[in-house]
Amino acid sequence: MLPFSRVAIIGLGLIGSSLARSVRLHMPTVRLVGYDGSAAVRARVDELGLVDDVADTPGAAVIDADLVVLCVPVGQMGAAIEEMRDDLPQGAIVSDVGSVKASVAALAGLLPEGVHFIPAHPVAGTEKSGPDAGFAELFHQRWCILTPLPGTDETAIERLAEFWRRLGSKVETMDAQHHDLVLAVTSHLPHLIAYSIVGTASDLEGVTRSEVIKYSAGGFRDFTRIAASDPQMWRDVFLANKDAVLEVLQRFTEDLTALQRAIRWGDGDTLFNLFTRTRDIRRTIIDAGQDTAAPDFGRDHR
Ligand code: NAP
Repeated sequence: MLPFSRVAIIGLGLIGSSLARSVRLHMPTVRLVGYDGSAAVRARVDELGLVDDVADTPGAAVIDADLVVLCVPVGQMGAAIEEMRDDLPQGAIVSDVGSVKASVAALAGLLPEGVHFIPAHPVAGTEKSGPDAGFAELFHQRWCILTPLPGTDETAIERLAEFWRRLGSKVETMDAQHHDLVLAVTSHLPHLIAYSIVGTASDLEGVTRSEVIKYSAGGFRDFTRIAASDPQMWRDVFLANKDAVLEVLQRFTEDLTALQRAIRWGDGDTLFNLFTRTRDIRRTIIDAGQDTAAPDFGRDHR
């Protein structure tokens, strides 16, 4: 018995199109309807045949859906809800995939009575955008975090959890504020550092741009991959998760200052002990199946 039979996806970029492909693969009898604010994206999704029907309006997409998943940038979630709320059927579950959760949970009041709202975040992605970048296996073996509001119908939560499990995800439930703090450390701060370091390298006097590119395999190249992530999506993440990001950024700045002092005073033990601890964290991530042990600085895995 499938958890849903008619799924509407609003926003058909990297995540929305991956979701469509994954539902097709794992639940082929589900009727999929998609809508995107961009006419070019709608035309492309139609051409790729990713959904049964590409709707012309958000209302037409959701009118008989039992699950609606918002896959738009975090700053667009409120507008997306307002555009379709009058057409939502009673009993439908509305969810999302946004990278920040407290700001999405705060939109609950925009939804009509009789509709279940369960914010969610599949912790899976790439630095690419748009419907051509999506792929069906994106959510395999990745965590999907549900952040239901207190008092949400338990059956509705379980149906959404089952939906993500069927796509190959592992499901966790937590409070939206806690989600935002955890993701500030594991995702938002690393992106901020990458954006910052790539900006610094391109501004550095005394090192030419061609040298930065030529010798990038020393580690810089990995930052450039992260720093190539979608500017609109990431602008919205930092604006929506301001408090948690500033909190972990403060902590990071203090730790960086301690490293600066260790380097200045030739305190090799401090450096060595930290680098040993971080290497252990890398091993734990590999053991948990969240990455492979293949050497990656050269990127040639043959
Ligand atoms: P994306 O590839 O840029 O796709 C977003 C799509 O939504 C675009 O086609 C955009 O159209 C459309 N859109 C914007 N506002 C809309 C609206 N009001 N109604 C309908 N469509 C609208 O972005 P993405 O990477 O898939 O990200 C989507 C969501 O997933 C974000 O909330 C992000 O935080 C979350 N997420 C992303 C990742 C990741 O790694 N990328 C991972 C996990 C979660 P226009 O181009 O015309 O604006």
